[in-house]
Amino acid sequence: MTDIALNIIKLKKEIPANVKLVAVSKTKTADDILKAYNTGLRIFGENRVNELTEKRELLPTDIKWHFIGHLQSNKVKYIVPFITMIQSVDTFKLLRVINNEASKYGRVIDCLMQFHIAMEETKFGFNLQEVMEVIESEEFRQMKHIRLCGVMGMGTFTYDSDQVRQEFRNLYSYFNELKNKYFHEHSSFSEISMGMSGDYRIAIEEGSTVIRIGSIIFGDRL
Ligand SMILES: *Cc1c(COP(=O)(O)O)cnc(C)c1O
Repeated sequence: MTDIALNIIKLKKEIPANVKLVAVSKTKTADDILKAYNTGLRIFGENRVNELTEKRELLPTDIKWHFIGHLQSNKVKYIVPFITMIQSVDTFKLLRVINNEASKYGRVIDCLMQFHIAMEETKFGFNLQEVMEVIESEEFRQMKHIRLCGVMGMGTFTYDSDQVRQEFRNLYSYFNELKNKYFHEHSSFSEISMGMSGDYRIAIEEGSTVIRIGSIIFGDRL
């Protein structure tokens, strides 16, 4: 049996105080999430809209939910009323839909731009040029219901730690470039979300401010 509370206590000892921990609870039950919640964790990450909206109903309302998976435009409306952050913005169109839906609730949604930093073809995300085009567009400037808070990326799934380290360095440099060029006066543009169970140590060494941890906390997903 997985001792969720113990796993969290051990993990927290390793994480510097300036790094936020998102407990990735996809495929896990509300009961398991509550065990993590009872250790004091408040930020949970999910990657499926239906699963998130169902589990949320069963759980304390002060949980801060982060969306971390590929988000279809037609499902944005189901999470916009309550979501704390959407970490996985991967198209301009998605940003447009989030802005539009958020306006109906008078909300401003914290978003991260997801970069494609891995070697795998299948992972979603922007490159630096594309993000700059979004940020420089007049349409983006008019979006009153989006607050860009930084960047997110997933490293290649590999044992080659040099490869992963280089990818995290790339993401860090994209963040810096955007920060210096567009957001140096915006203290809210401050997050670099990188690092999962297999590579969070490298990510922290390379400047991560948000790690997204599932298996280490909840056990392997079947
Ligand atoms: C599943 C997932 C994680 C957590 O993965 P673990 O290896 O279980 O820690 C982190 N980020 C994203 C985007 C995920 O989909």
